[in-house]
Amino acid sequence: MIEHVILAEPRGFCAGVIRAIDTVEEVLTVSGPPVYVRRQIVHNPFVVQDLERKGAIFVEEVDEIPSGARVIFSAHGIAPVVREMAVDRDLKMIDATCPLVTKVHLEAVRYAREGYSIILVGHEGHDEVIGTMGEAMGSIILVSTREEADAVHVDDPERVAVITQTTLSVDDTREVVETLRQRFPHMATPSRSDICFATQNRQDAVTLLASRVDLVLVLGAENSSNSRRLREVAETSGCPSHLITSLEDLDLAWLEGIKTVGITSGASTPDSLVAEVLAFFHDQGEADFTTLRAVEENVQFALPRELASIRATLSL
Ligand code: SF4
Repeated sequence: MIEHVILAEPRGFCAGVIRAIDTVEEVLTVSGPPVYVRRQIVHNPFVVQDLERKGAIFVEEVDEIPSGARVIFSAHGIAPVVREMAVDRDLKMIDATCPLVTKVHLEAVRYAREGYSIILVGHEGHDEVIGTMGEAMGSIILVSTREEADAVHVDDPERVAVITQTTLSVDDTREVVETLRQRFPHMATPSRSDICFATQNRQDAVTLLASRVDLVLVLGAENSSNSRRLREVAETSGCPSHLITSLEDLDLAWLEGIKTVGITSGASTPDSLVAEVLAFFHDQGEADFTTLRAVEENVQFALPRELASIRATLSL
């Protein structure tokens, strides 16, 4: 019987995700459907389905979009070659790349210009990693694990820079970066960590949560890097944890012998999915519900500049 349900704060949508979703909704409102979006605007199928209902059309690549149409690039960022392909198709571009991902892109460009071998700590195949690597093809080597960091080869060990995917586990990254630092003591690093504030805050919150509960449920999609990391961080803190996309994935066997359940959600998970899980526990009986806040979070990002020019053009 579950006696206590504790909700982590902060959790769920971050400023970059809110900005990306608001961008699609605003463009749909201002210019009307269809609006094409390259790749999942954020890594959550419920967000994508909701925007599809409103008139967004999601594509994998820009060559699926009719010439001259409007395209929105997702929060994870794009490689320059994608922008070039969009220009070739005469697409009207709106870039919803999170400003914190853009920061990492700019670091890659700068380090490449200054002749560094760049080591990107990240996960192969993730949209953000593909976009960042595209900024400096030939200068960036991807490293995911400490073993890979131990084995990586660079032309000049005195001229190495390291950058990071924004949504990794802080602890995992520390291990890989420390290994690199031992091998390349003079390696350059960005003045501010590339792990974004939202990832850090949600990991701090789940660490605190894991110390108070018997089981942590993380709501988030399988392809959401920051959601997967939240589950790992809870487990590393010594608490069993499961990643579920929605209430449907909840296995009642997990709850046997559990008195206190902690709930959190990834940065791309709508709070409506958390509300469904809370409603489930509410309907079960006597559990009390509390919130456990690790840190205040009140960051906001302005919408992409291109939106102002769309509004101006359409009001002429
Ligand atoms: Fe931006 Fe961080 Fe949110 Fe990713 S998780 S969209 S980098 S704020």
